[in-house]
Amino acid sequence: MSSSTDRRNVAVGPRKEGAAVKGFTQKVHFSNPCLNHSLEEDVQAFLIDEDQLHTFDDLTKVNPVTPTTVLKCLQARYSLKVFYTHAGCTMVALNPFQPVPDLYSVDVMRDYHYATQPQEFKPHIFIVAEEAYRNVQGQLEPVNQSLVVSGESGAGKTWTSRCLMKYYATVAASSPAARSQDTVERIERRVLDSNPLMEAFGNACTLRNNNSSRFGKYIQLQLDSGQLLVGASVQTYLLEKTRVACQPANERNFHIFYQMMKGATDEQRKDWKLPHNQCFAWLPKCEKQIEEDSFHETVEAMVHLGINEERQRQIFRILVGILQLGNVSFCSSANESQPCNLDEHSEDFLQRAAELLGVPSEELQTLLRVRTLKAGKQNVLKPCSQAECGVRRDCLAKVIYGQLFEWLVMFINSCICADKSKWCNFIGVLDVYGFECFHINNLEQLCINYANEKLQQHFVAHYLRAQQEEYVSEGLEWSFVKYKDNQSCLELLDGNPISVFSLLNEESRLNRASDSKMLNVRLEKELGCNGNISWDKFSKVPHFTVTHYAGKVSYQIEGMVEKNKDPVPPELIGLLQKSDNLLLHEIFTDKETEIPNNKGLSKVTVVSKFKNSLENLMKVLLTTAPHYTRCIKPNSDCRPLTFNEKEVILQLEACGIVETIHISAAGFPIRIPFKSFLQRYGLITKYSTSGRLHVDSDADSTIILQQEVERLLGVVLQHLSCNERRSLVHRGRTKVFLTQPMLDLLEDLRKNI
Ligand code: ATP
Ligand code: MG
Repeated sequence: MSSSTDRRNVAVGPRKEGAAVKGFTQKVHFSNPCLNHSLEEDVQAFLIDEDQLHTFDDLTKVNPVTPTTVLKCLQARYSLKVFYTHAGCTMVALNPFQPVPDLYSVDVMRDYHYATQPQEFKPHIFIVAEEAYRNVQGQLEPVNQSLVVSGESGAGKTWTSRCLMKYYATVAASSPAARSQDTVERIERRVLDSNPLMEAFGNACTLRNNNSSRFGKYIQLQLDSGQLLVGASVQTYLLEKTRVACQPANERNFHIFYQMMKGATDEQRKDWKLPHNQCFAWLPKCEKQIEEDSFHETVEAMVHLGINEERQRQIFRILVGILQLGNVSFCSSANESQPCNLDEHSEDFLQRAAELLGVPSEELQTLLRVRTLKAGKQNVLKPCSQAECGVRRDCLAKVIYGQLFEWLVMFINSCICADKSKWCNFIGVLDVYGFECFHINNLEQLCINYANEKLQQHFVAHYLRAQQEEYVSEGLEWSFVKYKDNQSCLELLDGNPISVFSLLNEESRLNRASDSKMLNVRLEKELGCNGNISWDKFSKVPHFTVTHYAGKVSYQIEGMVEKNKDPVPPELIGLLQKSDNLLLHEIFTDKETEIPNNKGLSKVTVVSKFKNSLENLMKVLLTTAPHYTRCIKPNSDCRPLTFNEKEVILQLEACGIVETIHISAAGFPIRIPFKSFLQRYGLITKYSTSGRLHVDSDADSTIILQQEVERLLGVVLQHLSCNERRSLVHRGRTKVFLTQPMLDLLEDLRKNI
């Protein structure tokens, strides 16, 4: 693959629709409310013509920018099946809720890829993809890129991420030479196959989305010096493993279980000891018809990724073992000093579970009903209550499934990740669960919403705030746009020394009997004065309400500490280590089996682990150039071409899209330091940069550079009016600020020298 500039010679593909509106673009540029242009007073207010709304391919051109005008514009476009719209630096993607194959074909990918100026084409996720691809090489220096895809559940994040990956697998396909060395499958194929596999194990049908990701994912696509895709690595975040043992009403367990039930061969069923008519407590059916249940596709992906038949067998036996375990139930014991009995049919289910999990059934039965405690240096056995037995059963299932998922991700990485010597840059695609607010919210939602707060902070800090601050420091005239800063909410959640997370962790470590009550009391006492948290004094169920940037969410306190501890009885781990299912044995080999004493429990809590992994993600994101895509769900019923104004406006507000547009509209997204600018474009005016640029970067040299940049701009822009110039380019104190059209103009002039 040649460099991005060489690629710019084939201009094909769909033209963008907004360009045809005569005289329009210029007018709105000058009348933007955010810039102190002297011309602004002279510009007549632009009255929105409703018939023209669909033509705005960039929401920054809508004038005035208000939630209503933005909403109307998106609605007009959606009704014409136009699903993508720029919002300055962000791409807004409306979910069509129906297949639109023509929009994503390989031909369309190529159109965008080979276009001289892809941004002149209709807005599309491929513009974002291509921009990141070209920016990796960078006009000035190579830089890793991140594509951050956000939006609420069912908005289209995973769909968009898949689409981005397919784009790179097509336009950056490995060279024939590299392919012949691939023994298992071509690398692009393997990278793409990681999607159905991870989705089978990590996605489920929920009330909001038939294919809802129950984990977060950051995939780095590794590119070599020729910008070819040579590998990838995946990092996952917080799988909602509770779903294995407890499915919310009208929701399902993870897809893989249903796929197996539907797609297994008779031979496999025999191996799994699975009669056709067996029902499972953990496999609730929901009314929706799910088309995605393709066992064949999952197995094919396993094969492509190099999971051999024996490993597959081990995986499936573990999964059926989990299901059998779910059918085991207990009756209460008449005598507290005696363990509970299994109820009527459970003996059989337990037997099958033990066989499939490869552990002795007697021992499994005992460990589910009797726990081991530490009293001084002695281990003491204590029969569990009926409820405790159920908790232990669920716990066993969750730990097995959670670890199996981690193993799978590790395996995928081992077969798609290229050796560090083979790649030099990456494009990261981030698909994390969207903001969640249910009737009942607990630790899972707290973590998910915390992740969304972090991402919003990243967006605010690294786009909005940085842009405004840079304008000030570079001396550009600028009137500030007020944006919602979520710093105080983040401090409430994870700040030091006292925050929701710190109190939650402390209660988890203290391991007190009345942990929920204590947590509630302490939250109110120690964080009560924080404006982002409140309590409903009249509520019977203890909860606290957090004001997130995307809205208020009430979190139930009951069960939160226990979930944060996520305790796994070490005796159960010890049992799994004895498994003769080789995979299960391998997965649990290094896990702790020491019985802890009552104090000093759970140093590593769910929250602390999650916070840590998010911090690492943020560190990576900070080293990359971000591109944002906001997916919007036009209606909550997943109906094609149905646009619910109320629901959409809430989403627009939640992601601060109006502020983004304001700033982007007035902004100069491209900034080039003087020296680099002169080095690249000095030749346009036959102006020799050699000799003159060997000045040190002290005050004098900055003034000289400033003067040289002024001269260069003066020559280049002489045919533009002063006001046009101001809307396209600005000379700051150390950098030149440009809009994309200006950069394109400079690039064209440079090419034609
Ligand atoms: P969650 O947070 O629950 O994982 P999500 O944002 O990842 O949700 P997706 O699973 O990507 O949501 O999208 C939900 C559904 O919407 C998809 O299964 C698909 O049917 C449809 N969809 C999304 N985007 C598109 C698109 N561009 N074209 C066609 N259908 C789409
Ligand atoms: Mg998803």
